[in-house]
Amino acid sequence: MNPEGRARVEAWLEYFNDLGISDFCLDRASSAVEAARTPVEPIPAAPEPLLRPARVASSVVDPNPTHVAPVLPVIKSASLFAANERIEGDTLEKIREDIGENCRRCKLCEQRNKIVFGAGHPKAELVFVGEGPGHDEDMQGLPFVGRAGKLLTQMIEAMGLCRDAVYIANVVKCRPPQNRAPEPDEIETCSPFLYRQLAVIRPKAVVCLGAIAFQSLTGTKPSMSRIRGQWLEFRGIPLLATYHPAYLLRNPNAKGDVWEDLKKVMAHLGLKLPAKR
Ligand code: SF4
Repeated sequence: MNPEGRARVEAWLEYFNDLGISDFCLDRASSAVEAARTPVEPIPAAPEPLLRPARVASSVVDPNPTHVAPVLPVIKSASLFAANERIEGDTLEKIREDIGENCRRCKLCEQRNKIVFGAGHPKAELVFVGEGPGHDEDMQGLPFVGRAGKLLTQMIEAMGLCRDAVYIANVVKCRPPQNRAPEPDEIETCSPFLYRQLAVIRPKAVVCLGAIAFQSLTGTKPSMSRIRGQWLEFRGIPLLATYHPAYLLRNPNAKGDVWEDLKKVMAHLGLKLPAKR
């Protein structure tokens, strides 16, 4: 192996080690080198697809028989996620430790105040995933505590749940400057920690809040209007996207759409609809 190739391998191994992934076979290391050279191809021999083509979970069958779910490709970070799946005895505490107190793996560290790991019940049946912390979250180190967070709390309570019963996390754990959307390299660097959180919690459903969260988990870029409210399956976990609460603050007329989406989640979780609102 030439020096440049060796340096690439060492950089990847160091990155995986930072994520708490230490067991590699030769082929995995070779894939990492290849990934550094070219856009990552899906791994056809993976024991289970990372994202199955839009298969609707049996317990959440779309009542509209004419609906055809979009076919989604395998996510790009296939090898990394597959590796994450092999972490034995992983816990939320270990993931937090692996991130560290002063993570500098991506450029979002430069203006961050606090890392926002996520919060909620460690065995929650329902996980909400947003795109990244905002100003209030950055100051407090907690997810969804600003205006949008208050609206999310109202949404959760409207479902008959309390915040402590669910888990809330973001794709990136540090605030993007001026609340811009996280950039692809930042998502690629930080999202493996979210994958590990989901693998540990194993919720019955994941609700993606906004397009960035959906795109980050599925590796696809459909418009929100196209995929909102549809059940997909992500590594065996039913996943549904709805509008981000910040979008609802700007577009309150969309609250009805979100409520329809949340009712689907409630039905899936076996929650009773509240009395007439
Ligand atoms: S966003 Fe994630 S990877 Fe980037 S510095 Fe923060 S914790 Fe580290």
